[in-house]
Amino acid sequence: MEIYLDANATTPVLSQARAAALSVMADTFGNPSSIHGSGLRARALLDEVRAAARRVLGAPTGQVLFTSGATEGIQTAVLSALHSLRQRRIAGEAIPARLLYGSTEHKAVPEALRHWNGLLSLQLQIDAIPVAADGRHDLAWLRRHAPEAGLVCTMAANNETGVISDLDGIADALAGSGALWMVDGVQALGKLPLHLAERRIDYAPFSGHKLYAPKGIGMLYVRDGAPLTPLLTGGGQEGALRAGTENMAGIAALGAVLSALEGGGVFASAERLQAQRGRLASALREAFPGVVFNAPFESSLPTTLNFSVPGMSARTLLDLFDAAGLRMSGGSACSAARAQPSYVLEAMGLAAWQTESAVRLSFGAADSASLIDEACDRLRSCGEVMRATCQSEGTHGADGPVDLLTRFVVDGACCYIVADTDSRRCVVIDPLPQLTDRLLQWIRCRQFELAAVLDTHSHGDHASSAQDLRGALAPSLGERDACDALGWPTGGRAIELGRHRLVRMPIPGHTQDSTAYLLHDDKDQLCMAFVGDTVMPGALGRSDFEQSAPMDFAASLRALEQAVGPHTLLLSGHDYDNRFATTLSVECAAQPLLAAVLQGRLGDESFAMEKAALERVLAPTEYQTLACGARSECSLFDEQVELPAAQLLAQMSASSALLLVDVREPFESRVGAAGALGAQAVPLSSLINALPRLTQLPAETSLVFVCRSGNRSAQAARALRRLGHAQAWSLAGGLALWPAKAGDVPGAEALAI
Ligand code: PLP
Repeated sequence: MEIYLDANATTPVLSQARAAALSVMADTFGNPSSIHGSGLRARALLDEVRAAARRVLGAPTGQVLFTSGATEGIQTAVLSALHSLRQRRIAGEAIPARLLYGSTEHKAVPEALRHWNGLLSLQLQIDAIPVAADGRHDLAWLRRHAPEAGLVCTMAANNETGVISDLDGIADALAGSGALWMVDGVQALGKLPLHLAERRIDYAPFSGHKLYAPKGIGMLYVRDGAPLTPLLTGGGQEGALRAGTENMAGIAALGAVLSALEGGGVFASAERLQAQRGRLASALREAFPGVVFNAPFESSLPTTLNFSVPGMSARTLLDLFDAAGLRMSGGSACSAARAQPSYVLEAMGLAAWQTESAVRLSFGAADSASLIDEACDRLRSCGEVMRATCQSEGTHGADGPVDLLTRFVVDGACCYIVADTDSRRCVVIDPLPQLTDRLLQWIRCRQFELAAVLDTHSHGDHASSAQDLRGALAPSLGERDACDALGWPTGGRAIELGRHRLVRMPIPGHTQDSTAYLLHDDKDQLCMAFVGDTVMPGALGRSDFEQSAPMDFAASLRALEQAVGPHTLLLSGHDYDNRFATTLSVECAAQPLLAAVLQGRLGDESFAMEKAALERVLAPTEYQTLACGARSECSLFDEQVELPAAQLLAQMSASSALLLVDVREPFESRVGAAGALGAQAVPLSSLINALPRLTQLPAETSLVFVCRSGNRSAQAARALRRLGHAQAWSLAGGLALWPAKAGDVPGAEALAI
């Protein structure tokens, strides 16, 4: 059963509201502007709902207009205020120079301010009102600047954190200022008494779908005497203030919600909501002892919990929760390259790790106590699974088999653990400071012995945390601490890892000390090579640093080719585009300069010159880090790898040469994610272990990756295509859209799974 804990995004429609909407669509379907019986009945309903809205909002006076939602209400309010300022300016009056909005406001507000300020040619200065660490407006700042403001916008409660604004304090700070005041009431509706008409609030927009009404219906309160300019003109509806035939089904549904609010019995009291939040918070603390709540409970809506867990990204947590049937959202929007920090938490001055990894749990005021109890149980199970899979800090004792290779990526920079299950010895390659805790956790929880911490070169874009790891784990090198600057044991010819062996090979160029580490198995076969930044997917390491050796680069590439050949998997120090691994043959096809030097068409000096030309204007990466090489290809989404479910079903029934691979992480299946149709499990985090096998499949085998949403599976499919397997695909939309029955897929009715 799915437990929906994302009520600040939207809510399901209350059954009474659904019934009211259906009844309007079937029976009271008249146009409220018509003067016959059908129209009059619709008009009566419209008036009834407006009257209920006035009572709930505490707005016996002023306008209450029905809109399509809060975004429209915000536009109308901003247009009205700015148009009035413009009229005053045209009439020769000196108008205030600034427009102010809370720095944690929903994006609709600053966007509307910018839009109308430009469109009306006002060119007023738009400034964000700072907030304190508790998310509340800096009232001293507001008091200072209010006299220069024409419009002030402050939300009643925040959608990410639930922080409740001090509306009385804001009113006080605005005393004496002539500014108009808009309060975005979206998240407060039904949760806080607003007493709109008692306050000097000029505009207050609302959205029905945040409180169990359908999407597409909203309200805008406008104080008597506040300027009001219609956004829509036409047939004169809503007193000619908002034209367009009314959304009667939405209005009827909203009416049912307002009745439920007035009548009681459907929505929990503030005390009960606080108790429910308390239970969820305890479950989170039990599951993740390090959890940090990002807003103080005492000044936040009891239905919103915004939290971060040290060492766990928002994406990991959301995958985990989703697999457990708990629907939550990231406190921050995710872009293709990285999780964008939450601007709301940034404005509150929270630490970068909190702003980047925040998760928002928001439940509905109509959720039952038993649903909250079930959510708490599932949260506790999530915590247990994360401990059992060594993902939680401070856990010990997992002793099962581990992958030979584990890869970690931070802003495109890669770090690897090479681990041998039998001997329980491991080596860390290119450790990043941001990963120290996770690496220590990985090693300690699995009770591995650290044989060495190696760097492939002295890094230009980030520090190495090798010393910290060595200090924390006292590696069992032959002679304690006897290693060179890159961590190689003094005098050692190889590092033995049970059935595997690492040897090193100098490849100066990117830096003078650049070194490759070659991994051999017990039959002395070369399995993989760690090549640092010398060769990266789509790029060669730059060689314009002070510590570079540009004239040695070409010879190093030739020597590397001699040692590893065209098809050995190369694991690089950076992988900006989620390619996972590469080979010299793949890179020669992608990088003409590399092909020219390896095919003997370029000498050392000309190679160095051509390479230097590429590196003359290297911009920072999309992560705002120093680029470690000039990329000859960097398009992430060039290849269409999505395979619709219907097509996959057809292929499955028609062809035996098809391999389904589920790239979800083990913790996801352990918390209950259903397996996918006999798919092989290859978690994305250990895809590199499976690459030697997958790249050797016959060319005609369709390799179809699946995951929850289609994002990770698309990464895997693109990586395989780049490595030469043209028939690599990703299930479009992920397993979230996978049909419960073949008949659920249009066009696949006849197929049995
Ligand atoms: N204001 C706040 C605080 C919100 O949470 C939202 C929706 O997320 C909006 C405005 C915009 O509402 P809608 O998209 O329903 O127009």
